Amino acid sequence: MTTAAAYAIDAPDGRFAKTTIERRELGPNDVLIDIKYAGICHSDIHTARDEWHGTAYPCVPGHEIAGIVAAVGSGVTKHKVGDRVGVGCMVDSCGECSSCLAGEESYCLRGATMTYNGRVPEEVQPGGVTFGGYSTQVVVTEHFVLSIPDGISLEQAAPLLCAGITLYSPLRHWNAGPGKQVAIVGMGGLGHVGVKIASALGAEVTVLSHSLSKEADGRRFGARRYYATSDKQTFRELRSRFDLILNTVSADLPINDYMRLLALDGTLVMLGLPDKPVAVQPFTLTGRRRSLAGSNIGGIAETQQMLDFCAEHHIGAEIEVISADRIDEAYERAIASDVRYRFVIDTATI
Ligand code: NAP
Ligand code: ZN
Repeated sequence: MTTAAAYAIDAPDGRFAKTTIERRELGPNDVLIDIKYAGICHSDIHTARDEWHGTAYPCVPGHEIAGIVAAVGSGVTKHKVGDRVGVGCMVDSCGECSSCLAGEESYCLRGATMTYNGRVPEEVQPGGVTFGGYSTQVVVTEHFVLSIPDGISLEQAAPLLCAGITLYSPLRHWNAGPGKQVAIVGMGGLGHVGVKIASALGAEVTVLSHSLSKEADGRRFGARRYYATSDKQTFRELRSRFDLILNTVSADLPINDYMRLLALDGTLVMLGLPDKPVAVQPFTLTGRRRSLAGSNIGGIAETQQMLDFCAEHHIGAEIEVISADRIDEAYERAIASDVRYRFVIDTATI
């Protein structure tokens, strides 16, 4: 075991405090990473505050990790000391099920091991729970370590490891590209990267945001149109317009109003994760052969493809770098949508 410094929370209503955690000894297929930056995803907030019920405390969140390889195990071939690397939401999966064999590790039938608050397999560490990126070092099996291309800074790449792949994967799966009308609902951490990627893929992008306050940014990121969902006229004007709608909002939205914005054969994909069920009116589905779907991050090969695509198109997250002692304040500001557009912790401050 080696030790690393980290910021942990020990109760749903607790505050983050500095602590020391253990990282496993480097195995033959493991990579030891000096973490440089860790993004703050809204999922970190849901988990730290136990909003999804099932958080083990103490909890060290962080699944948007960027850093430098510090050491590698004897069998590692994919990475070497000094490489710029990233780790996203998963650190392991069974590697044997049909999903894993198809490169869809995020749909591992046994359940992928999540980067934090994940259950460590019994044979590795009975009762063990994973600790994430709000920390100075992490040990990860090489398959789950991504290469960060030279074209993107580490701090702007970190959020791509979750926000980037969460949007890239459904955009590719539902064929966003030239001639396709794509709407992104909510322009936060996920949404703003989605606008950039969807427009780089050639789709015609519309942002559906609470208000018009971020419109200039949305257009700078590549959106052709920008509408306020607080305005009832938006739902009349955009009826049956979109081939694909990606919903990044975790609040309860009037889902049928959004479904009616889909064209014939259109799909609305749930990415945001409120813990309440959504009640869809079957007539809104049948009327235009519409689909309601969901998508969960993306596989490892696709995550690498996304990073390479972002580097090629000069896409990085828009970030505000903070010191680790400001995590609690950053959570409050993220909840109030007062961030442009992702907080990233500089782990040198831990
Ligand atoms: P975020 O940065 O806080 O952005 C969420 C955006 O939703 C806000 O910027 C805001 O956009 C909009 N919004 C917030 N509150 C709202 C409300 N009450 N009504 C309507 N709109 C509201 O969060 P994020 O990091 O992008 O994460 C978004 C969600 O995705 C979270 O639930 C997270 O857990 C989930 N997630 C899912 C996956 C997956 O694999 N499916 C992966 C990562 C995260 P506007 O101001 O533009 O309206
Ligand atoms: Zn995330």
